[in-house]
Amino acid sequence: MTRMVGIDLGTTNSLVAIFRGGRGEVLADPATGSRMCPSIVRGETDSTVTVGEAAKRDRVARARDTVASIKRMMGKSVAEAQALVEGLSYAISDVGDGVPRVRVGDRLLSPPEISALILKELKDRASAALGVSVERAVITVPAYFDDRERQATRDAARLAGLKVARLLSEPTAACLAYGLEKIPSGKIAVYDLGGGTFDVSILKVKDGLFEVLAINGDTRLGGDDIDAAIAARLLERAKLEGAQFDRTLRVEEAARTAAENAKIALSADVEVSVTLDIPEAGLRWTGTLTRDEVESIARPVIERTLKLSGRALRDSGLATSDLDAVALVGGSTRMPLVRQRVEAFFGMPPRSDLDPDEVVAMGAAIQASVITGESRGITLLDVSPLSLGIETMGGVVAKIIPRNSTLPTAVGMEFTTHVDGQRAVLVHVLQGERELAKDNRSLARFELRGIAPAPAGIPRVEVIFTLDANGILNVLARDKKTGLAHDVDVRPTSGLTDEMVERMLIEGMTLGAADLEARLLVEARVEGEKLLRQSRKVIAQDPTLITPDEASQVDAVLRALEVTIGTDDHRAIRRAMETADAVTVPVAQRLMDRNIASFLTGKNVDGD
Ligand code: ADP
Ligand code: MG
Repeated sequence: MTRMVGIDLGTTNSLVAIFRGGRGEVLADPATGSRMCPSIVRGETDSTVTVGEAAKRDRVARARDTVASIKRMMGKSVAEAQALVEGLSYAISDVGDGVPRVRVGDRLLSPPEISALILKELKDRASAALGVSVERAVITVPAYFDDRERQATRDAARLAGLKVARLLSEPTAACLAYGLEKIPSGKIAVYDLGGGTFDVSILKVKDGLFEVLAINGDTRLGGDDIDAAIAARLLERAKLEGAQFDRTLRVEEAARTAAENAKIALSADVEVSVTLDIPEAGLRWTGTLTRDEVESIARPVIERTLKLSGRALRDSGLATSDLDAVALVGGSTRMPLVRQRVEAFFGMPPRSDLDPDEVVAMGAAIQASVITGESRGITLLDVSPLSLGIETMGGVVAKIIPRNSTLPTAVGMEFTTHVDGQRAVLVHVLQGERELAKDNRSLARFELRGIAPAPAGIPRVEVIFTLDANGILNVLARDKKTGLAHDVDVRPTSGLTDEMVERMLIEGMTLGAADLEARLLVEARVEGEKLLRQSRKVIAQDPTLITPDEASQVDAVLRALEVTIGTDDHRAIRRAMETADAVTVPVAQRLMDRNIASFLTGKNVDGD
C-alpha cells in the first residue's frame, strides 16, 4: 500500500503532511517529534549527509560544510547562482555543464540533488510515521517559480524516489488549508512571508471553485533579509562598544543565528538580551535588542511586500474593499508589525487561525486527497505565472496565453507567411513578459513544413497553445488549408538533462537499488512505446515513398522493440530503441525532406 503526501519544500523549512480526519495534518519526525525540517544539508567527512535539525544546530561551527537556502538555486544557471549565493556560507562551482554545483562533503552536487536529500528525509519520515511506503506527493512551489524552477523541483523529486502528482502554488495551497472554498462567493488575498520568499496571491472563490486572479512576489525577499540586517547591526554595535574581532564567516553565521533567535523572541517579548560568543575570533559581546529596533529594521522589507501586494491587486482589477478575507502564511507573519501593517493595508484583520508554518503543507495534503479521490467537492484552478507566446517578424513576441490565465486553458491564434511561396514556418515558443523574443526564455522551436505554396499573407497557420493543470504546455501548429499539423509537448528543462538525472539516479545517491531498477523499467517502457507510436505514425504518412526493403526492415526493428517492451529488462529496451532509431530515423528524415520543396530559413512566422 502506498499513500500520497503533501510536501512544502521551503527555502528555510520543509514539512510533510497527509490528509486525515478531513483535514491536512503535518507529520512529526517519529525520532525527534519535530514537525518542521530545516531545509539544511551538511556533508560529512565519511561521505554521509546530515539533513534538517541536526544540520541547523551546528551550522555555526560547521558553516563551511553546511548548505542552506538551496531552493534559491533551483533551476538557475551557474552565473545566476553565483549572483544569488552572496551572504550564504557556501560557494557555487562551475563544472562546465551549465548546472551549478555545491560541495556537500566530498561531492559536488547540483541544487536538485541537494533538494532531493531534503525530500528523501521527508519521504522517510512519512513512511516511518505511516508504516507504509510513500511514493507520490503533491509538492508546493512559490507562485513565481518559472518552468525551469518547477522542472528542477520535479527532478529533485525523481531523485528522491517520489512521483510528483502535482506541483501546487504555495498560496493556493494555503487557501485550501484555510478551507476558504467554503466562502460561497468572494475574493481572497494570501500573504506569504517566509524565510526566503514573498508571495501574494489574489484569488476568487465561487461555489467551491478557486480561481487565481493575480500573483506577485519576490523570490529573494523574506525573514533571512531581516536576519542579515539585524546581524549587521549587532556586529556594528559590538565593534562600536570596543569588541576586537575578525569578521570571519563563523562570526557572520553566529551573528545571523543570534539575530534570528532574537527576532523570533521579539515577536512575543519587547526586549531580549543577545550574546555573541566566538572565542577563536576573539569575540564576546552581550547587549540588548528591542522590538522597536527590530521593527525599524524589518519595516523596509514589510513595506516592499505591501507594494507588491498593491501590484497584485491592481493586476486583479480589485480594490482592497473588494476582498472578503486575507490569509497569513509563512513564519515571518508571526511578527506583530507584519500583522499590523497587513491589517492596515488590506483594511481588515487577516486570518491567522492556522499555524502559518504549516498551512502550505496542509493545503498540499488536501490537494493530494482531491487527486486520490479521498475528498470531493473541491476543484482547484491554478494560474500561469508568466505569459506564453511565439516569436513573430522582427523578433517581437505575440502573446498567446497571457500571464495569470486560469489553468487549464487553450488559446488559438492565426498567423500567416511573410514570403511568397513560403512552405515552412518556424514556431519559436517563448515565456516571459518582455516585448522582444531575445529577452524572454526560449522554451522550444519547431518547424511546420509542407505549407501549400501561396503568395505571402494568404496561408492561414493556426497556432494553438494548450496548458494543462500542471502548467505543461502543448503547442500545435496547423496549416488551415491542408490540415497538416505539427505538435510538441514543451518540456521545460531545469538545466539538468535526462542523462544527467539518470546518471545521478544510477549513482544511487538517494535510492535503493530495487527502487531504481523498477523506475528505470517504467521509464524505458514509456519512452519505448512513444518511439514506437511516433515511428509508425511518420512512416504511415506516405507509404509509397518507402522501398519494400526499407519497409520490412523498419517493420522488423519496431516489432523487435515491441516484444522487448513486454519484458522487464530496461537495458534490453534501451538497446532495442537504439537499434530502431538507427533504422527508422534516416527513413523518417527522408520522408520529411521530400515533403519540403523549398524551405526558407530564418524568421518565417508573421504576426497578424
Ligand atoms: P520558507 O517558506 O521560506 O521556508 P517559513 O515559512 O518556514 O519559510 O518561515 C521561516 C521564517 O520565519 C524565518 O525567517 C524565521 O526566522 C521566521 N520566523 C519563524 N518564527 C518567527 C517568529 N515567531 N517571529 C518572526 N519570524 C519568525
Ligand atoms: Mg513557505
